[in-house]
Amino acid sequence: MSDEGYEMQYIQEAFDTNWIAPLGKNVDEFESELADKVGSKAAAALSSGTAAIHMALKAAGVGKGDLVFCPTLTFSATANPIIYQNAIPVFIDSDYETWNMSPEALEKAFEKYSPKAVIVVHLYGLSADMDRIIQICNKHSVPLIEDAAESLGTYYKEKHTGTFGDYGVFSFNGNKIITTSGGGMLVSDNEERIAKVRFWATQSRDPARHYQHSELGFNYRMSNIVAGIGRGQLKVLDQRVKKKKYIFEFYKRELGGLDGVEFMPINEWNEPNYWLSCMTLSGKVKPLDIMEALEIENVESRPIWKPMHMQPFFEKYDYIGGDVAEKLFESGICLPSDTKMNDEDLGRIVEIVKGLWR
Ligand SMILES: *Cc1c(COP(=O)(O)O)cnc(C)c1O
Repeated sequence: MSDEGYEMQYIQEAFDTNWIAPLGKNVDEFESELADKVGSKAAAALSSGTAAIHMALKAAGVGKGDLVFCPTLTFSATANPIIYQNAIPVFIDSDYETWNMSPEALEKAFEKYSPKAVIVVHLYGLSADMDRIIQICNKHSVPLIEDAAESLGTYYKEKHTGTFGDYGVFSFNGNKIITTSGGGMLVSDNEERIAKVRFWATQSRDPARHYQHSELGFNYRMSNIVAGIGRGQLKVLDQRVKKKKYIFEFYKRELGGLDGVEFMPINEWNEPNYWLSCMTLSGKVKPLDIMEALEIENVESRPIWKPMHMQPFFEKYDYIGGDVAEKLFESGICLPSDTKMNDEDLGRIVEIVKGLWR
């Protein structure tokens, strides 16, 4: 069956069984299929990855005035839910070995603060240095939330990212490795907490015949139609990872030798999903030169995420570390990584990029 073939079957099933409105079989099945895929005990299907981070923070007991450690080099959706909970982010630098949270900077942050939770992110499908980060969190008995929104299909030492912490978050937004057009998943081995998240996410409706609420509620549940798309997409995840890896290796082979080019780090303990192929530039060609040259040919590329401590909204919060995240932001570029590209498309991109060195 084609890449897009399974989704319609599950959506049709939802229509046939009159389960169009929220919840139903696809939601239950998508939860258990994703939990099986990553090796987690339980999962809650939610309306977005952002909602899943919000629910993870709430489940971890983060509330008003609490501190949460968060990587500075990430998408703002990692940090926004900290503010939703009226908590206070402290941003942590990255390291060059992983591009993710620096264990050294994390240790330094613990010398200064006692946070209620730590969020770690696996950027671009690269895994953070989990052994060291878990060791630090355990030493301080602080719950760990993994933002694995970009790393579905990524393994650290043969275990799936998102399953190391107390909570793991996945996203199925339009730009992610698999997509439901919009959606997210919270996973955990704590089934009781996941049940609680499902309750909060459906308006905290008490089990009574009338509409009764003893807690603040949220409308964060995934619909049965969206979950049908997710079930179909999950079937093509491995295929997508293979193609993403092919794209990365193509670029690395063709561009890796250019002066000043360094590709994102692939550590021996990490089997990434290669969501985006990224590299840094230290020579005379700058990321903007590549972005502009590609744009002329109608090809989209992107800069690395702009660190949170450099964002107008977040710069008032404390930041622990040096200039690694800043340097990655200034020198980094994400090359076009769409799995629909063929060798001809890739060859064309490579020629445009190489042209800047001539
Ligand atoms: C996409 C993304 C999110 C948010 O997921 P949504 O489903 O878009 O809400 C969170 N964190 C990171 C790192 C992401 O890339």
